[in-house]
Amino acid sequence: MTVSRTPLEVPIKTGRPELMLILGSSLTVIAILSIVTFLLIREHANAKQSATRGATNIVQLIDADVLRNVELYDMALQGLITASMRDDLQKVSPQIRHLVLFDRASTARFRGDFLLLDKHGNVIADSSRVDPKPGNFADRDYFLAHVFSKDTGMFISRPFKPRCNCDDRDLWRISFSRRISSSTGEFLGVAVASMHLAYFDELFNSLDIGRDSTLNVLNSDGILLAQKPILNNAAIGQSFGNRPNVVRIMREGTGSFTSVSSIDQKNRLYTFSRVGNLPLTVSVALSTEEVFAAWRRTAILISGATGVLCLGLLWLTWLLCRELRLRQQAERELAQLAATDALTGVANRRALDQALSREWSRAQRSGKPLSVLMIDADHFKAFNDRHGHQVGDDALRNVAQVISQNIRRPADLVARYGGEEFCVVLAETDPSGALRIAENIRAAIEQIPPVDGDTSPITVSIGLGTWVGEPGESLDALMFEADKALYRAKHTGRNRVVAAG
Ligand code: GH3
Ligand code: MG
Ligand code: MG
Repeated sequence: MTVSRTPLEVPIKTGRPELMLILGSSLTVIAILSIVTFLLIREHANAKQSATRGATNIVQLIDADVLRNVELYDMALQGLITASMRDDLQKVSPQIRHLVLFDRASTARFRGDFLLLDKHGNVIADSSRVDPKPGNFADRDYFLAHVFSKDTGMFISRPFKPRCNCDDRDLWRISFSRRISSSTGEFLGVAVASMHLAYFDELFNSLDIGRDSTLNVLNSDGILLAQKPILNNAAIGQSFGNRPNVVRIMREGTGSFTSVSSIDQKNRLYTFSRVGNLPLTVSVALSTEEVFAAWRRTAILISGATGVLCLGLLWLTWLLCRELRLRQQAERELAQLAATDALTGVANRRALDQALSREWSRAQRSGKPLSVLMIDADHFKAFNDRHGHQVGDDALRNVAQVISQNIRRPADLVARYGGEEFCVVLAETDPSGALRIAENIRAAIEQIPPVDGDTSPITVSIGLGTWVGEPGESLDALMFEADKALYRAKHTGRNRVVAAG
C-alpha cells in the first residue's frame, strides 16, 4: 500500500533559468533578425540608388545629344527664315537662292527635307531640289499650330510618314517648324524640317540598358517617338498619354519611381527627364528583376544562413532547456527522496526537523498557534512478535496513510519520528482544533481492520502540544510537552489523546 498524499513540497527553484535562457535566446534571435533585415533593406535601397544613378546618366546622355541635334535643326530653320525674308534674294538665280536658303540645313543629322511653305501651305522652296515639287501641307498639325498662334516657337510634330513616293516613305519622321511672321506679326508661312526617327535608333545603339528594360522618347502628348528595344513596331507614333505611368512621367517632368508596367505587368524602375525646354521626354524603364537580381541572390543567401543560425540557436536553447528540466526534475526527485521515509512514504525525520523549525519561526512572527501531535503505536513490540516484522511494516504503512488522510491543509506535515512513532505538525491550529484532528486520527486508526489472528485492531496513543503565543517558550519545550502528553496517554490506558497541560 502506498501513501496517497505527497509528504512534503520540496522547495527547489524551477523555471527561472529556463525562462532566462528562452528570453536570452529569443532576444538574440530578434536582434540577429533585426540587424539582417536592416542590412538587407539598406542594400536594397543602395541597389535602387545605383540603378537610378546609372539610368539618370543614360537619360542625361540622350538629353544632351537630342538637345544638340534639335538646336542644329533650329539654327537651320532660323537661317532659312532669315534668308527667306531678304528681298535681294529674289534677284539672284534660283540655284544661288537655293544655296543661301538651305546653307545650314546640311549640318543636321538624319535630316529629311527642309521646306518653306507660304501662308496657304504651298511649298515655295525645297532643300532637295532647286525647283520645288508642288505640294500643299496646310492640313499638317505644325502648319495649323503656327497659323493659329504667333508664340508657338519651335513646334515638334507628331511622328508621321511622308506622302511622297520616295524610297524612305515607310520610315517614321518628325518635323521641326517655325512660323514666318511679318514685322507686324502677320502670318507669312512656315519653315519646316523633317528628321528621321532612325536618329534615335543610332543614338540608342551605343547604350546598354540591360535585359528586360526599355528606353523611350515621348513627346508632350505621350506619343512614342522612339524605343529600344522596339517591343512593338505599331507602338511608334501611338499615344500612351492615358497610361498611368506616362501620365505621371509627363506630370513630374524629371524624376524616378517604381511601378508596374501596364504593357507587360512587370515591375520597372522608371527614370525620366524633359529634354531642355523641348516637348520631349526621355525615359528609361529598368526591369526591377534585373536591378535587384544581385541583391536578391545575396538576400536569399543571407536570409537562409540567418534562418539556419537562428533555428540552430533555438534548437540549442530547446536542448538546454530540456537538460535543465531533466536536471531540475532529478534534483527534485532526489530532494524528495532525501526528505521521505522509505517505509511509509511520509516525511522523514530530517524533513520533520526542517518543517518544525520553519513553522516555529513563522508562528513566532505571526503569533498564531502551532500544534504538534506525537503519535505512538500501542504494544507494537508485541504486535511484531505475534505477526513478524513484515506484517508490522504493513501495519506502519497503514497507520501512516490513515494519519495522512486526516491532514488536509497544505502547510501541515506528517512525518515518521522513528520506529513506530509519528509526528504531525499543525500550523496555525489552536488546541481545540488540534485535539479534534488528533481524535479523528485515533478513531480512524482504530477502524483499520485487525490483522488475521488478532481480535482487536491496532491503536495509537497521541500526545498533543500547542504553542499559543506565550513568549519565551522554545520549540524543544513544545516537543517535550507533546512527548510528556504522549507518555501520559500511555500510562492512562493507551488508545487515547492527551493534551499537554
Ligand atoms: P508501547 O505501547 O508502550 O508503545 O509499547 P511498544 O511495544 O509499542 O513500545 P516499545 O518501544 O517497547 O517497542 C517499539 C517496537 O516497535 C519495537 C519494534 O519491534 C517496533 N518497531 C520499531 N520500528 C519498526 C519498524 O520499522 N518495523 C516494524 N515492523 N517494527 C518496528
Ligand atoms: Mg515507541
Ligand atoms: Mg509503541
